[in-house]
Amino acid sequence: MTEKMILYGKYLCRHCERLRIFVRSRQGGLVSQNCVKCKKPQAVNINDLPDLYCGECDEKLVKFKRKNYFYSCDNCKVEWEFAQIVPDWYELFEYYGYAAPVSNEVTYTHTQLKVPLSAAYSI
Ligand SMILES: [Zn+2]
Ligand SMILES: [Zn+2]
Repeated sequence: MTEKMILYGKYLCRHCERLRIFVRSRQGGLVSQNCVKCKKPQAVNINDLPDLYCGECDEKLVKFKRKNYFYSCDNCKVEWEFAQIVPDWYELFEYYGYAAPVSNEVTYTHTQLKVPLSAAYSI
């Protein structure tokens, strides 16, 4: 089971001043932040990434870029690819109730403080 998180961008959409949510934009691990209203995607800089904490030891995760964005816990020697913990845009669309219910394989949490360990893999 993949556990994914709804994570909000730091800045509102320039056009409609609504929240942006990080989504996986296409295969290969690219992530964008899309406005919930106009759905316009915005490129993600590493400084835009939210602070996340290890679900195991509560240590603040280190953000780094290795082709795509990753988080790692130095304590637990675990890393997460950011694209793996955010929903695809089409999943999010469903989550907000415009279409069919979300697939059983995906659960969403609203916390910004923990990373689900089920999304982790060892280095
Ligand atoms: Zn917008
Ligand atoms: Zn840890």
